[in-house]
Amino acid sequence: MNNRFNKLLQVNTSGLGCWVGIILTVFILTSVGLGWVINGFIILVVLLFIAPVIAFWGFRWWLKRKLTLAQCPVCSYEFTGFKNTEFSCPSCGEVLKVEADQFSRITPPGTIDIDAVEVSVKTIEESSSQS
Ligand SMILES: [Zn+2]
Repeated sequence: MNNRFNKLLQVNTSGLGCWVGIILTVFILTSVGLGWVINGFIILVVLLFIAPVIAFWGFRWWLKRKLTLAQCPVCSYEFTGFKNTEFSCPSCGEVLKVEADQFSRITPPGTIDIDAVEVSVKTIEESSSQS
C-alpha cells in the first residue's frame, strides 16, 4: 500500500504523468468496481433462479420423507399424512398414525380420553381459583 501511494505521489509531481495516473487509477477502479457489481448481479440472478428450484426439490424430498400416502383403515379414504405425528382422517375423523408406510388406528376406543384430561385440568383450576 505504501509503495503504491509513493508511486502515485511521484507520478503526481511529474505534470503529464499526473493525468495518466489519475485516468489509469479511475479506469482500474471503475473496471474492478463494475466487474464486482456485474459479478454480484450475476450471482444474485443465478441465486434467484436456482434458490427456488433447490427449495422446491428440497421441499419435495422433505415431503417424501415426511408424508405417507395411504388409505384410512376405517373408511378406506386415501390421503397423505405426516409421519411421527398423530392426525385424524379427513373423511371419518378417526385418529391415525403412520406405521410402516400404512395408516393405523392409534388405540382402541376407550383410551382416547384426551378431552376428559382437559376437563379435569379445568376443574382443578376452577377449584383452586375458588379457594
Ligand atoms: Zn377414515
